[in-house]
Amino acid sequence: MHLLVAGEIPLASVGRAHPDACFENILDLAPDGILAFDAEGHLVLFNRAAERLFGHAAADIYGAPVSDLVMGGVPRNGAGPFEVTARRRDGSAFLAELSVNEQTFGQEVVTTVICRDVTERKRTEERVRQLNRELAERLERGVKVVADLAASLNPSEVTGRLLTRVVEAVGADQGALLRLNEDRLVVQDSVDVQDGTTLPRGSEFTGDRILQRAVDERRVVFTSGIEAGRLPAQMRNWLQGVRQEAALPLVVGDEVAALLLLGRRRAEAFGDSELETLQLMGNVAAVALRDTQLFTAAEAASASKSEFLNMAAHELRTPLGVVVGYLSMLADGTLGPPSEAWSRPIEILNIKAAELNQLVDTLLIAAHMEAGTIQGEAQQVDLVGLAREAVQRAEPRTHLLGGQLILEKPADPVLVQADPIYVGRILDNLINNGLSYAMDKPWVRVSVSADAVVTVEDHGLGIPDDRRGLVFERFFRVNDPSLLPQPGIGLGLYISRELARRCGGEVALEESVPGVGSRFVLRLNAVEAVSERAAEAAPASSGRTTGNRSAPVCQCYC
Ligand code: ADP
Repeated sequence: MHLLVAGEIPLASVGRAHPDACFENILDLAPDGILAFDAEGHLVLFNRAAERLFGHAAADIYGAPVSDLVMGGVPRNGAGPFEVTARRRDGSAFLAELSVNEQTFGQEVVTTVICRDVTERKRTEERVRQLNRELAERLERGVKVVADLAASLNPSEVTGRLLTRVVEAVGADQGALLRLNEDRLVVQDSVDVQDGTTLPRGSEFTGDRILQRAVDERRVVFTSGIEAGRLPAQMRNWLQGVRQEAALPLVVGDEVAALLLLGRRRAEAFGDSELETLQLMGNVAAVALRDTQLFTAAEAASASKSEFLNMAAHELRTPLGVVVGYLSMLADGTLGPPSEAWSRPIEILNIKAAELNQLVDTLLIAAHMEAGTIQGEAQQVDLVGLAREAVQRAEPRTHLLGGQLILEKPADPVLVQADPIYVGRILDNLINNGLSYAMDKPWVRVSVSADAVVTVEDHGLGIPDDRRGLVFERFFRVNDPSLLPQPGIGLGLYISRELARRCGGEVALEESVPGVGSRFVLRLNAVEAVSERAAEAAPASSGRTTGNRSAPVCQCYC
């Protein structure tokens, strides 16, 4: 191998001229530019690729300073790769990557440089970075839209948010959500971020062929001219000044359910990036639309169920009143003394009629609760008196079941601010559950504490751990197969909890162990600093405060 030294013939020419050397071929076949310069920085080697890269013929450039080719010269600190700006013969610049190697041949120091044009690679890298940035932005926008839409199920809120987000994401000025109703496009919602004008909901937007194409072909269609002339005047006004439109069909299931129409007032057309954004958002929007449809359907079903409950309960009430009336007349002898054989059946019929009454009442309350029409009036009442009355109401049933019902109460009244009918109903429900869900003969203890907490405890079936959180749900029943069917429809605890909340208190299941029993509590807010007079005046209060005021009194109803 022979390298050019000062005053000799250029190396590449030597290599090419030498018949035995393959050096020429190696140099010239290399895809990268290879050049070398001496200790003074003068070029001594320049292969074919370098000729192509820089536009110089090797013969013309030998001896020229390397800084003619590489702006600022070749870096010498290490092997590289270095990124530099290189200059072609015609003066144009390009980004080059250099690998540098310094070698000594005898007295001569020669620096060899491999040079590659990386302009294209850099451009590609920048493009990839840009695409990644755009993708990240789109994803972020998509996530924001999903989060935004998931935060509500209210149909008009969802469509409003959807429109605003999509308009923002594609740099539009206005947007309309058009529902496809049979073959007609009907405005469901619209926004204009510039002038705030909206389209009348329910108005028809049919008549434009481009929108129709988006529906038929199920794809985003861009246009710079909706056939506004075919649309009603209101739509034409709304579209005035709009120069670019995009129509995005929203496919729910197999059907196009709606169309998003977006408009820009500036001349810049919607492009690929907007297309991708719209396709992404279209999927999210379709899911959101389907959810709101399901929500609306569920609401309608729930409303008609409540309506049915209400109607059924009302209709049952009248004939039931007649049955109960005649039964009590039979029981109290108004219709003549009942024979010996009749008295037990009449007693049972009376109890069953009371149960039925209770059931109808429960249905009515639940229906009123759902409709938000439940009436109630908080007043100062004595919780002890209310508990006593509830226990007395449960007495006949306890007797019939051969059970035991105990009331423990402080000697003093415990005043609370609550609706007495609500509190009575809650206590009835808790006590009756204690009597119903018993293993054998029921045992139920009702304790009232001075700080306005009523505990209803039983030695009954108990509730399995995994059901404890569910017993307050509407219509939930544990349905123990070892138990005979119990009256009830799973609304008692739900109603009790709701009523307690309306009194500013709560009902909770404090403890329950299967096969051992349960303890429910009703917590209300005690009225502070009760005067004796107020206590006496309070309804449902015994008001008597004889003997030791704080000693609990125990009554037993067997
Ligand atoms: P209902 O008694 O009409 O079924 P509730 O809402 O009052 O409705 O009670 C829901 C369910 O919770 C009952 O069906 C029963 O399975 C369970 N439950 C309620 N109270 C008790 C209790 N004291 N002991 C055991 N299970 C109970």
